[in-house]
Amino acid sequence: MFTVQSQLKDTGKITPRYGKILEKLGLLTVRDLLFYFPSRYDDFSRIVPIAEKYLDQVITVEGQIVKAKLTRIFRRKLTLFEIIIQDKSHQPLKALWFNQPYLAESLKEGVVVRLSGKMTLNKKFLFLSNPAWEMAQRESTNTGRIVPIYRETKGLTSKWLRWKIKEFLPCASQLTEIIPAKVAKKFHLYDFPEALNQIHFPKNSESLVRAQKTFAFQEMLLIQIKSLRLKKDWETHNSLSIKFDVDLIKKFVNHLPFKLTDAQRKSSFEILKDLESPRPMNRLLNGDVGSGKTIVAAIAALQTIQAGHQVALMAPTEVLARQHFESFSEIFKNNNFNIALLTNSYRKINNFEFRISNFEKNSNFQNSNFKIDSKFNPPAGGQNYSKLKTVNRKILLSKIKLGSVNLLIGTHALIQKDVCFQNLALAIIDEQHRFGVAQRASLQQSALELKDGSSQTIPHLLTLTATPIPRTLAIAFSGNLDISLLDEMPKNRQPIITQIIPPAKREEAYAFLKKQILSGRQAFVILPLVEESPALSEIKAATEEYKKLAEKIFPDLKIGLLHGRLKSAEKEKVMNQFKNRDLDILVATSVVEVGIDIPNATIILIEDAERFGLSQLHQFRGRVGRGEHQSYCLLFTNSDSAKSLQRLKVLAETNDGFAIAEKDLRLRGPGQFFGTLQSGLPDIAMENLTNIKLIKFAQAEAKNILTADPELKEHLSLKKELEKFQEKIHWE
Ligand code: ADP
Ligand code: MG
Repeated sequence: MFTVQSQLKDTGKITPRYGKILEKLGLLTVRDLLFYFPSRYDDFSRIVPIAEKYLDQVITVEGQIVKAKLTRIFRRKLTLFEIIIQDKSHQPLKALWFNQPYLAESLKEGVVVRLSGKMTLNKKFLFLSNPAWEMAQRESTNTGRIVPIYRETKGLTSKWLRWKIKEFLPCASQLTEIIPAKVAKKFHLYDFPEALNQIHFPKNSESLVRAQKTFAFQEMLLIQIKSLRLKKDWETHNSLSIKFDVDLIKKFVNHLPFKLTDAQRKSSFEILKDLESPRPMNRLLNGDVGSGKTIVAAIAALQTIQAGHQVALMAPTEVLARQHFESFSEIFKNNNFNIALLTNSYRKINNFEFRISNFEKNSNFQNSNFKIDSKFNPPAGGQNYSKLKTVNRKILLSKIKLGSVNLLIGTHALIQKDVCFQNLALAIIDEQHRFGVAQRASLQQSALELKDGSSQTIPHLLTLTATPIPRTLAIAFSGNLDISLLDEMPKNRQPIITQIIPPAKREEAYAFLKKQILSGRQAFVILPLVEESPALSEIKAATEEYKKLAEKIFPDLKIGLLHGRLKSAEKEKVMNQFKNRDLDILVATSVVEVGIDIPNATIILIEDAERFGLSQLHQFRGRVGRGEHQSYCLLFTNSDSAKSLQRLKVLAETNDGFAIAEKDLRLRGPGQFFGTLQSGLPDIAMENLTNIKLIKFAQAEAKNILTADPELKEHLSLKKELEKFQEKIHWE
C-alpha cells in the first residue's frame, strides 16, 4: 500500500525508468506528482456528429473503423497510417498519422474509436491530421473532454502523465486542507481532492477556473499571512524618531539645479513623515528608471544626518554603489558630511580638501594611511575621481563606529560582521535585483543585520525599486509595505526613440550608430546571456562580438568590453574610460550592471532583444536619454515570430515603465514580482494572482485569521504550509 506521502518508486506503479525521469523534474512523492499541474489545456469537449462538418474547428468524433491502412514511403523514410471511420451520421472521415506505425496494432477495422483534432476538408474527404485518440469504451482521458497538457521532457509524454495522475488522484483525499473550511465556503473554493481533480481533468471551463482560483487563493493567502506577520514583527522594533525640519528641506530643495516633480515632493513628504515616528518605516519608493529616486532618497538622508544620525545605503553591485557614492558626494557637496564607500574591493572616503582636514583633526589616528589613489587620473569634464582616497579598512570601520562617517554607501559588504555603526537611523536599499529572477534577498533582514552600536533601535527602511511595480500588484504588497509612487517624469525629458531592427537593416543601423559617434556621442552594445551558460562561454561570446565590432565593423572607433568575469579593478577601469570619453562604444553582457549614468551616451543597441523580458529591456533603455541629446534604443532581433515582434513593439510604442511592467505582468505572469516562480503553481493560476478582488479577499481573510489566532495554533496545516513556503521562496 502507499499513501500520498509515499515515494513514487515505492508505489509499484512507476517503473525505474520513469522514476528517474520524474526525479529529474523534482517529482519524488505521490504528492509531488499530483501537484505537477498542466501548463495548458486542449479543449476537446465538443463531441459532434461527423456529418455536421465543423470545418476548421477543434472537435471530437466517435465512430467505427471501416478501413485501416499502413503505408511505408521508403524513399522518404516515412510511414503513413490512415483509417476511415464512420459514425451514426453515416459520414466517413479520414484520420492520418505520420511515423506512428505501431498505431496499426490498436486501431484495427471494426474497432470503435474517439478522435479529437481540427477537422479539415481536402477534396471530398473530411480529415483529421494527427488527432488525439482513444478507444471509445474507455473513460475520456485524452479525447472528448478538456485535456490537460503538461510540460513534457524526453521520454515523458502528457498522455503517460494523464494516466498516472489519474491513477494516483484518489490519494488526494488524504491531504490535509490548508484553507479553513469557512473561508473556502465563503469564496466557493474546492477542497483539495476536488481542486486537484478539476485542475487535471476539468469537467468544464467553469470548474477549471474554480480550481485555479482555489490554488491561487491559497497561494495569495500564504503570501498575505506571511507579509502581515513580517509587518507585525517589524513593528515590535523601535526606531529613532527624526524631526521633520521644514526649513532645512526647503532650503535644500531650493538650491537644487532643478525643480522637484510633484510626485517627488509628495514621496519625500511621506518619507519625512514616516521618519518622525518611533515605529520603523518600511517604505518602497516605486518609480521608473529616471524618475528621480536618488534625490528623494537624498532628502531622507539629509534630514537624518542633520538630526545627528547615520545613514547606510546599500546597492546590489559595486558599480552602482560607486555611482551612488559619486551622486551623493555631488548632491551634498555644500553640506559638511563625511561620505564613505565600502565594498569588497573599494574602501574610499570622499575627501574634498576641507572635509579630509576635518576628518584628520577629529581623528585619533596619528598615522592614518589616507592616500591619493593614483589609479585615477584627473578626468575631463569636472568628474571628481581624483578626489577619492583609499583608506585602510580598519580605520574606515572605526570611523563608522565612532559616528564620524555620516553616510556609508556600499554593497552587501555593509552587513559584514565587523561593520558597526554608532547611531544608524536610516537604511536605504537600492533593490536593483536581477530582473525576473525569483530570489529576492530579504531586505528587512538585511536592514536588521546592519549593526547599530546602540542596538536599542533598528533603522528606518527605504527601498528603491529598479522595476516599477504595476499598480495592480502594488496592492498585494501593501500588507507589509507602504508605497510611495513616482509616476511622473521630470519635465525636461526627451522620449527615447526605440526601433526594432530586423537582420536586413543591420548595416543601416550600424551606419546610424557611427554617425552618432562621429557627432560626439557614445554608445552601449548589450549582449544577451543564457543564464545557465558557463562563465567561459560568456567570455567567449562577449569577446567574439567585441572583436567583430572592433576589427570588422568599427575599426576606427575605440571600443571597450565589460563582462561579468572581469575583476572589479578592470571593470572600473573600463567604466572610467567610457565615462571619460576615451571609449566610443561599450560592449557589455547583460550580467554586468549597466545601471550607470553617462549622459553623453545616446544610443543603446541590444542584440537578440527577444531573449529579454520587457521590463529588463526598458531598464537597459534607461541607460540612455540621460542628457540633453536625443537618444535611441535599437532592438536587434533575428526572430521573425509574430509573438516576439509583438512583444518588442510594446517598447517601441511607449516609454512608460509602469505600462510596460503591466504588459510584462500579463505576458510573463507575476512570478517575477512575487518570487513564486518555483512554487509549482500553474501559469494560469499565477495569472489569478493578479486578480485584485482575489488579492483583497485574501488580504482580509489573512487579517481575520491572524487576529483570531496570531500564532496559528488553530491552523496547524496552514502554519506548516507557511513554513514550507518560507523555505521555498524568499519574499520580504
Ligand atoms: P532613478 O529613479 O532611475 O534612480 P535618478 O535619481 O538617477 O533616477 O535621476 C535621473 C536623473 O534625473 C539624474 O540626473 C537627476 O539629477 C535628474 N533629476 C531628478 N529629478 C529631477 C527633476 N525633478 N527635474 C530634472 N531632473 C531631475
Ligand atoms: Mg537609480
